[in-house]
Amino acid sequence: MIVCGAIDLGGTKIEARAFDASLHTIEMKRIATPTTDFDAFMVGLCAQIDWLYAISEQADLPIGVSLAGIINPTTGIATASNIPVSGHNIGAALKARYGRNIPLVNDCMALAYSEANGGAGQDYPSVVGLIVGTGVGAGLCVGGTLPYRHSGLAVEIGHIGMSAQAVARHNLPLWSCGCGKTACMERYMSGSALTTLYELKTNETCSGKDIAARSKAGEEIAQQVLSIWEDLAAECLFAIQLTLDPACIVLGGGASLIDGLIPRLAEALRQKQFSDTGQPEILLAQHGDSSGARGMALMAMKENT
Ligand SMILES: [Zn+2]
Repeated sequence: MIVCGAIDLGGTKIEARAFDASLHTIEMKRIATPTTDFDAFMVGLCAQIDWLYAISEQADLPIGVSLAGIINPTTGIATASNIPVSGHNIGAALKARYGRNIPLVNDCMALAYSEANGGAGQDYPSVVGLIVGTGVGAGLCVGGTLPYRHSGLAVEIGHIGMSAQAVARHNLPLWSCGCGKTACMERYMSGSALTTLYELKTNETCSGKDIAARSKAGEEIAQQVLSIWEDLAAECLFAIQLTLDPACIVLGGGASLIDGLIPRLAEALRQKQFSDTGQPEILLAQHGDSSGARGMALMAMKENT
């Protein structure tokens, strides 16, 4: 039986998921994100919400929404780079249409919330959820709840500069980032960065998945590239430790699934840490691709009670 639902709003797809009482996905429906303008986008979003109400046969089904973007907590105004919602108040538009509050949260914060509540970070007092996919972003959950965010930012670690020392150590260029800055973390340690690094060394384009497979099969250059990438990713983990000092960092996103990655990253981080400090536990997200949506469904259920 469907007890709650969630929508995952991304730049390419709007994914609706219906969950049972154990927060397992029962049904899922994806549509392409309408990118022409806000009105077209809202038509797509509402169609997905209507679908959840229809298949659950519950007009008051708790539904939450995660967004690959920022929502200002004071004004409700969204900012997103790949979805036509910037300058608009999605929450107010949903309330006008459905007559109720539908919780709306940044997708990385939703992942952290999910993993801290019944996921890999369940037993930890503070959890950072780090998504390493096409880009890099993170969220923070403390004591099982989302902390106050003054501007609605998540943990925007992907757009903090990569350590100059690390860039120099590996003799890498200063790559520019889509955000307008140069040498952002995500240019060096996202899933896409693995392809960029391999291309730099070989002039050959190869997906992150294939690079990991080639490394496993013993290709020396793939092993070198993966090891450089892991060192750069550990710089990101170290920056998270120095700033937020979480009890654990839970990894999600496509690149988190590279075989044997978690213990290798934990070891790479150990080599960077200050002598007497411990380090956060490095864990793999328990709920995979559905984790952010699961987090929003859980939040919607809590807000309904
Ligand atoms: Zn950037």
